[in-house]
Amino acid sequence: PAPAAYGTGKKSLGTRRGLNSKFVPPVMNREEDDFGDQVANVVTRAVLKTGGCEASGSGAALFEGIDEEKLKGIEPKMVELIMNEIMDSGPPLTWDDVAGLEFAKKTIKEIVVWPMLRPDIFTGLRGPPKGLLLFGPPGTGKTLIGKCIACQSKSTFFCISASSLTSKWVGEGEKMVRALFAVARARQPAVVFIDEIDSLLTQRTDGENEASRRIKTEFLVQLDGASTSSDDRILVIGATNRPQEIDEAARRRFVKRLYIPLPETEARRSIITNLLRQQEYALSDRDLDHICTHTDGFSGADMATLCREAALGPIRDMSFGDIENIAADQV
Ligand code: ADP
Repeated sequence: PAPAAYGTGKKSLGTRRGLNSKFVPPVMNREEDDFGDQVANVVTRAVLKTGGCEASGSGAALFEGIDEEKLKGIEPKMVELIMNEIMDSGPPLTWDDVAGLEFAKKTIKEIVVWPMLRPDIFTGLRGPPKGLLLFGPPGTGKTLIGKCIACQSKSTFFCISASSLTSKWVGEGEKMVRALFAVARARQPAVVFIDEIDSLLTQRTDGENEASRRIKTEFLVQLDGASTSSDDRILVIGATNRPQEIDEAARRRFVKRLYIPLPETEARRSIITNLLRQQEYALSDRDLDHICTHTDGFSGADMATLCREAALGPIRDMSFGDIENIAADQV
């Protein structure tokens, strides 16, 4: 079957658990021999994204600003794959885009962002942690925080879901991990964000297959490497909603651990008002109060979905003919 996730311009590696978690793409696990073809597909539509925030360049600029020395021994096709699929950019994010979570934001600025900006001041006792664990319910902004850290510290952002290493990159997961860290080192300062890290570092050993064990070992080796080398400016962020499933030895490596809770009423309100900013709407303050008090237990992602759904309301009320003819500013 045609590799559905490729050639569509969609990021597929960072695919996350969420609303679509049960969806299994109609693509067989990658076999050695069709791996090359798929990589070629990815590379042909290569668009290099750099600097964590600014998107620029084209395939030709793939190796621009990269310390190629650090990529010795890594297959070029892997490097390209990582740059195209895992290295992430997007519109610049600021801390204001992350609603609520004041404590987490303050802590992160102090212990992570400043040291990445001024490594010369933050040495010795002030040395930053190299591993950060963000845990809490899904959809509460962990990825958003990761991106924001990268943006604010002018780092390259790499984002990968750990489950894709074990399920999607069968047979290649271990090499992928090694290549990922090599590229991160070559493009430092870098933030490596590993979503669903529990699936990589789980403590269950029986039933664990050889491949996942090897990926895990490689990951720990790389993590230790990143944290012992004082020259490397790489921050590894693990995100999980099942921190209890991470094995003790692995958990210890994430020196700093932050709980990212569901948003409070006020945070839910700012998520709504942020999303409404570019919209026509007729909600009064009282309506907003009403919505915010009735969405206790909603995550940030739930709030975004709610708003998206509501925004379609007026469209649903129209007849097909109206939809065809209505002026955009009349909606
Ligand atoms: P997680 O990584 O914790 O599962 P994400 O960071 O991927 O969650 O959040 C998914 C989406 O939900 C975001 O893209 C954003 O639209 C919305 N969201 C979640 N939390 C927040 C927040 N604290 N502030 C603003 N938006 C949020």
